Amino acid sequence: MQVRFWGVRGSIAVSGGAFAATGGNTTCLEIAHEGHRVILDGGTGLQRMGADCIATDGPQLDATLLFSHVHWDHIQGVPFFGPAFHPGSTLRLGGAPGLADALQEQMRAPMFPVGLDALQAQLSFVDVEVSEPLIVGPFTIHAETMSHPNGVLVYRVEAGGHSVVFATDVEHGEQLDPRLLDFAEGADLLVHDAQYTDDEYDAHRGWGHSTWQQAVDVAHLAGVGQLALCHHDPGRTDAQVAAIEALANQQHRGTFAAREGGRVAL
Ligand SMILES: [Zn+2]
Ligand SMILES: [Zn+2]
Repeated sequence: MQVRFWGVRGSIAVSGGAFAATGGNTTCLEIAHEGHRVILDGGTGLQRMGADCIATDGPQLDATLLFSHVHWDHIQGVPFFGPAFHPGSTLRLGGAPGLADALQEQMRAPMFPVGLDALQAQLSFVDVEVSEPLIVGPFTIHAETMSHPNGVLVYRVEAGGHSVVFATDVEHGEQLDPRLLDFAEGADLLVHDAQYTDDEYDAHRGWGHSTWQQAVDVAHLAGVGQLALCHHDPGRTDAQVAAIEALANQQHRGTFAAREGGRVAL
């Protein structure tokens, strides 16, 4: 499996020299295996991914795009996803309850110049059930609910004997959520919300996010291989991200800060 980070920022996209090395686009993760592609979340990073697909393979794309939830920072790339405008593309969308409505709403007049029907690709919506895995090409994809305002799904994507767990926008609260410890058990790569530090968390209780220390604890207790700290706070500078990464890696070897454009081969 080839994993690529196209957006690693939480809440809102940012730009500027202090954020350039980490990247400013919001959440988007690509997982490719044997010519098939699964995309997790359509934050602003999806725009860059689409531009890269077009430059590399042309304007047509066949992919499955699953959403953790429909907060803005996870859907805003969709209206700017180049391959979605090509009639030869096939996109299966799914995951978040109310996804079709949310995608239509964010392109509704007077907030956006064209509607969802401007996307010429063959769009279909797939149901994601917590109780039953979704099979897409070589991928087996499990989903689980976690605590986040308005709800969220975390995903476990398995193919070729490897596994990636994508757990963004999760709030553990005082204790680590046992659902995630079970769900992430033994994963090769865990991509985990790391928006806050322990010190910052008190002022953001109920906002729906984790601390990087909690991400490390989940990785340790679930026995995962690599841990990618993700959904960086929009105010977190490159220097701060690097400092967190160094501390976290001391506590769980194989921990790194997700950076835009970064790749992991499993
Ligand atoms: Zn988010
Ligand atoms: Zn959210």
